[in-house]
Amino acid sequence: MADHDLVVRGATVVDGTGAPRSTADVAVDGPTITAVGRVGGRGRREIDADGLVVAPGWVDIHSHYDGQVLWDPLLAGSSMHGVTTVVMGNCGVGFAPARPEERGWLVRLMEGVEEIPAAVLDAGIEWRWGSFAEYLDALGRRPLAIDVAAQVPHAALRVYVMGERGENHEEAPTDDEIARMGAEVVDALAAGAVGFSTSRSVLHKSSDGRVTPTYGASPAELLGIARAMGTAGLGVFEVVTDFVELDAEFALLRAFCEVSGRPLSVAISERRGEGPGPYRRQLELLEAAVADGVPMRGQVAPRPPGGVMTLDGGRNPLLDLPTYAGLAHLPLPERVAELRRTEVRQRIVGELEALDPKVSTVHIYGRAFPLDDPATYDLSPERSVAGIAARTGRTREAVVYDLLLERDGRAMIYTPGANFDEGTLDVTRELLVHPFTLPGIGDGGAHCTRVCDTSFPTFLVTHWSRDAQPDERLDLEWVVQQQSAETAAWVGLTDRGVVAEGRKADLNLIELERLESRIPEMASDFPLGGRRLLQRADGYHATVVSGEVVVEGGEHTGALPGAVARPAALLRTR
Ligand SMILES: [Zn+2]
Repeated sequence: MADHDLVVRGATVVDGTGAPRSTADVAVDGPTITAVGRVGGRGRREIDADGLVVAPGWVDIHSHYDGQVLWDPLLAGSSMHGVTTVVMGNCGVGFAPARPEERGWLVRLMEGVEEIPAAVLDAGIEWRWGSFAEYLDALGRRPLAIDVAAQVPHAALRVYVMGERGENHEEAPTDDEIARMGAEVVDALAAGAVGFSTSRSVLHKSSDGRVTPTYGASPAELLGIARAMGTAGLGVFEVVTDFVELDAEFALLRAFCEVSGRPLSVAISERRGEGPGPYRRQLELLEAAVADGVPMRGQVAPRPPGGVMTLDGGRNPLLDLPTYAGLAHLPLPERVAELRRTEVRQRIVGELEALDPKVSTVHIYGRAFPLDDPATYDLSPERSVAGIAARTGRTREAVVYDLLLERDGRAMIYTPGANFDEGTLDVTRELLVHPFTLPGIGDGGAHCTRVCDTSFPTFLVTHWSRDAQPDERLDLEWVVQQQSAETAAWVGLTDRGVVAEGRKADLNLIELERLESRIPEMASDFPLGGRRLLQRADGYHATVVSGEVVVEGGEHTGALPGAVARPAALLRTR
C-alpha cells in the first residue's frame, strides 16, 4: 500500500508566496497537496524532481476560450504553457446568458471582437443553456484537462435582458432592465461566476460592423450592476477601455469599484504612437485609488502584445496584392513553389514596394521580427525586417517576402504592437513590476490566425527571470507569485496558486534551463478544419491538475481532471 498518491521528490520548490526557494518533497493525495517538506513513506507514483523547479500551476486571468472549451478539452495552447486554470468571459464577450434568438448575434460579436470564425463557433458550440448557471453546468459536464472559470460578459447579459435593442450601444436600458441585469449577475456569481466583464473600446466591433453594445454604457447602467455585485459581496470586474477622456473614464471605473466594493482590473498598455503620458497617468490614478483603499489593478502583458505575420495566416503584407491574390487559393506547398519562382517574386515584391507606405504595413517593418524555434522573442533592432534590410542591402519589402517563404512557408514574423514605441522592453518591465498590476491579456483562444500570445506565462519566466540582462532580471520567486498566487487570489480562487499543505494540487514541474516557447505553428484542428496559431513549449517536465499529471514532456497524458472553478463554492465550504 502506498502512503500517498503522488510524491514529488527533492524538488526546488518555488511556492508562489514569494518566499525564497527551498528543497523539499511534495506529497499529493487525491486533488490536494498533503505535505511539503520531508515526506516519508512511498507514493503510488513517485517523480524524481532533482533539478526541477516545482511551482504552482499558472492561473491565466485573461482568455477567450468561451467557445473552444466546448470542443477542446485540452484548452491548447494554454495547457501546453503550464496554465492549470484559465479565466474566460473577458472583454464583455461570451455566450451566456443567452436566449436562442440571440445566439447568432453573440457568435458574430465574438467573431468580430476576438477573430474566431463564426462558422467554427457555429459548428463547435452545442447550445444547451439559457442562464449563466446553466452554462457553467454545461461546462462542468465537458471533459477538461485543466480548470476553467468564467465571467459574465456584459454584451451577452445586455441582449439577454434587453432583447435585440441591447445589441445597439446607443440604446439605454430602462431602470427595470438595469435592475434585471444586476439580478442576473448576482445569480451567476452565486452559481460560480468569477466576475463580470465589459468592453469600452471602439475597436471592438461585431463582424456585422457594429460597435460592441457595451461601448459607452452609461454610469447608470454600470453602477447599477456594480451595486448589485456589492450586495452579493462576490465577483471581480474586468474592463477594457480606450481611455479617451482618460481622467473621466478612470473616475467611472473607480466609482464602479467604490460603489460595489469589488475588485476591478483594467488593461493598461502604451498604445502605439501615444508615448508614455497616458499609461503613466493611468498608473498614477491607480496608485491614488489604491491609496484610498479602492481595490483596483492594472492588467498588463509580460511581453508586447503583438500580431503574427505568416503566409498561411490572417495577417501578412501580401494578402491584398493582385499577383498574390491569384495564388492565394493554392495549398501552401504549391503556393510556396510558385512564390519561389524568380518572376513571381519580382512581380510581388514590386507590387509591395509600390504601395503607399501610409496605408501599407511597411511602417511596421522596423518592428517586425522573424521568430526562431524556440521563439525567444529577441527584439534587438538588427533582427527586425528593417535591420536585416539595412544589413543585406535588400529592400524591406524583399526581406519580408523572403522571410515569409522560409521554413517552407511556415515562417512566423512577430510584430509587437503595444508597449514597444521605444523599441525595447522597458515599458513592459515598468508595467510588470508596478506594485498594482497583474500579468494578463494573453487572449488565449482568440485572434486565431493573427495573434499568438498564449505563451505569455512562459515568457514571463524564461525572459524575465532567466534571459534578461542581469540588471533587468526579476526574481523567479516573484514572477511565479505573479502568475499563480496573485492571479488566483485576484479572481477569488483561494484554494490554489500556492504549493502548501491543504491547497489544490495544481503544479508545474519545470526544467528551468530547458524552458522555451516553441515557434507558433498553424494548426487546422478547430471544427470544420478551422485554422489557428498554436504554440507549444519545451521544459514543462510535467503539469499536474488536481493531483493528476495532465501534460508530460509537452504531450497530453489523456488525464481529464479539469473542472469548473467556482469562487462562491469556496466561500461556502470555508
Ligand atoms: Zn480580451
